[in-house]
Amino acid sequence: MNKRNYYKELENKIDEFQKNNEVPKLLLHVCCAPCSSHCLEFLRQYFDVTVFFYNPNITEDKEYRKRVAEEKRLIEEYNRQVDEQDFEGMHSDAKARKISIIEGDYDPKEYFEAVKGYEDIPEGGERCRKCFELRLRKTAETAAKEGFEYFTTSLTISPLKNADVLNRAGEEAADYINAAITEKEGSLARKVFFLPSDFKKKEGYKRSIELSCRFGLYRQEYCGCGFSKAERERQKEENKR
Ligand code: SF4
Repeated sequence: MNKRNYYKELENKIDEFQKNNEVPKLLLHVCCAPCSSHCLEFLRQYFDVTVFFYNPNITEDKEYRKRVAEEKRLIEEYNRQVDEQDFEGMHSDAKARKISIIEGDYDPKEYFEAVKGYEDIPEGGERCRKCFELRLRKTAETAAKEGFEYFTTSLTISPLKNADVLNRAGEEAADYINAAITEKEGSLARKVFFLPSDFKKKEGYKRSIELSCRFGLYRQEYCGCGFSKAERERQKEENKR
């Protein structure tokens, strides 16, 4: 089976929207400000973007507050650029649009429930797949409820995360929600679509580091859950030896 190129699929979608003069409403799940910096710089040129900060996987309350505050600060900065038409040093141009944010519920119990039985699996395995499923399903649900046409996630920018697993989790979340909508409202009800992505491609990851430096964004050393924090600390200890 041919490996899918999710970046190319995103480009093709954007070409289609551009040809039809469409600016779809997109709900972008974001994990943190550094990862979302490039995604937002890129997507706001083509979509009417709302950020969805839903991350019950950040199991420490203090860490969660820090990350959500940084996301809000980044969005304020991007919106200021639009108000002042000041895009110096940015890749986006005057087409850039303002960004809104929806903060999802924060309850780490939802995360612990979702990854139950997989706690000891190393990062990148089944525990992460469950974690993606939880966050993407909630994003799909919110997108459908709030009238968005598309949803996607900033998570594909991470070189540590498997784009195939993430995109498939996104597509499954869309199928799940659409089946529920059809059951409730009938087959003519409006559906929500997952937008494929692989934001790390075409130097997207590198750009996210440049933008993080430019805006002085807080860059955490671990993914989010206490398990990943412990794993990172163990690795640091091993590297010292
Ligand atoms: S390492 Fe990251 S993706 Fe994996 S379970 Fe923890 S928070 Fe979720």
